Amino acid sequence: MAGMVFQNPDNQLVSAVVEDDVAFGPENLGLPRDEIIDRIRISLEATGMYEHRKMAPHLLSGGQKQRVAIAGVVAMKPDIIIFDEPTAMLDPEGRAEALEIAARLNQEGITVLLITHFMEETVGSDRIIIMDGGRICMDGPPRDIFARAEELKALGLKLPFAVELAEGLREKGVLPPGEPVLVEAELAETVSAESRGLASVRRGSTERLAMASLGSASPSAAPIITVDRLSHTYNPGLAYETHAVADVSFEISTGEYVAIIGHTGSGKSTLIQHLNGLLKPTEGTVTVGGVNVSAKGATTVEMRKKIGMVFQYPEYQLFEETVYKDIAFGPNNLGVPEEEIAERVKEAISLVNMDYDEIAERSPFELSGGQKRKAAIAGVLAMRPEVLVLDEPTAGLDPRSHEETLELIESIHERTGSTIVIVSHNMDDVARLADRILVMAAGRIVKSGTPREVYADEEILKSIGLGVPKATSFAGRLARGGLHLPGVILSTQELLEALSQ
Ligand code: ADP
Ligand code: MG
Repeated sequence: MAGMVFQNPDNQLVSAVVEDDVAFGPENLGLPRDEIIDRIRISLEATGMYEHRKMAPHLLSGGQKQRVAIAGVVAMKPDIIIFDEPTAMLDPEGRAEALEIAARLNQEGITVLLITHFMEETVGSDRIIIMDGGRICMDGPPRDIFARAEELKALGLKLPFAVELAEGLREKGVLPPGEPVLVEAELAETVSAESRGLASVRRGSTERLAMASLGSASPSAAPIITVDRLSHTYNPGLAYETHAVADVSFEISTGEYVAIIGHTGSGKSTLIQHLNGLLKPTEGTVTVGGVNVSAKGATTVEMRKKIGMVFQYPEYQLFEETVYKDIAFGPNNLGVPEEEIAERVKEAISLVNMDYDEIAERSPFELSGGQKRKAAIAGVLAMRPEVLVLDEPTAGLDPRSHEETLELIESIHERTGSTIVIVSHNMDDVARLADRILVMAAGRIVKSGTPREVYADEEILKSIGLGVPKATSFAGRLARGGLHLPGVILSTQELLEALSQ
């Protein structure tokens, strides 16, 4: 029998208590009571959720919910479990949790079929099957597959970090030619061994690079956003009240690109919904472009003009019969005259790099996932906001659409000069793009600074369930092995440069 685990943990849990959810499958199989009780215990233990068995699923994190969903499948004792992008909607910690369980179940003799966009998740597998346009185009063990780097790139797939770095180091002559290296620990050892002669790596230009890493955010202009002692409590006074945001203060300058990172449930979405007045503070104030948007009487039109809000999975909000109508919806509501609307729709479609003639009269529902998301973002851009706020805009996208969406945001930032506030779980993206990062944990801002300042301390980020960019983490691994690279490394490119000096 085959069991399936799907992408969205919320859609898979049906009961009000964790253990009832796990019991659902075995009960449907008509098993005896004792057997069901046994299976609930065993499968919740196997997924590390036994101590949460009496909890309500909606109080769990995304990763925990996904573990309960897996427990429910395990309780049916399947021979094979198909994981259909089980990590797409999870933060880095939840992602690691789900993958660990899949690996453990496999060791216990269950066949695992993992469907994923993330190449990183495939390196531990026995065999990788690559699909494109409904066909199988590659099939083999990871080492064989990743030796075909060019073909993979042509398919819009990314190489796992270690494979890419090893390849780069070979091109620069730092490592001798050889098979793809899949495991980071293995690569770190090879690199350490090869660089033993390279004293410059350890001493050399430490000072110069350390200086470069102090480079801080550019903007000099007055703040466009001021958040002052903001707190937000859901369900105040009730037994289940939640202090989602607690005493948060910060400013964002005009033209800045700011990223907000944090574990699921740390309060990111609650915080940003105050920026357009969708949520009102329990305490504190939020000012945008001189307007107090937290005030009770603040007009919504005023705010919508200033702040464009792209919610998580914005494509779910497309509803009109044509892309044109969908994008025109916002400006229409703002009372923009008809001729100007046409102009704005054209402009917005061009800003998201789509072709007006090709797309305007089509139904949004016929578009691919990545295109739908672009159309949804265009709908927000058509309101010509000064600030664009995006809540996890790349969540669930394949590597190619992921990259396109980031480029798109970057080009909007450059072409319109708009201020960007982006919520993200992807440490690599944030390191590459943001001027400044705000790190949230349990409703508070626990750290803020340039990517180099924030990622200088891997331990703090790990302690709150986040990580650092892959290259930063790899440099940390090298340092623990005695090979210290100067400054804070943020990207594979920087790592390659530091190692080939
Ligand atoms: P993030 O976006 O960082 O995942 P959220 O802002 O969504 O975090 O959630 C912060 C906290 O507030 C969590 O504990 C969450 O369960 C709770 N929360 C979020 N939205 C609501 C809501 N509408 N009602 C009650 N609690 C909520
Ligand atoms: Mg959120």
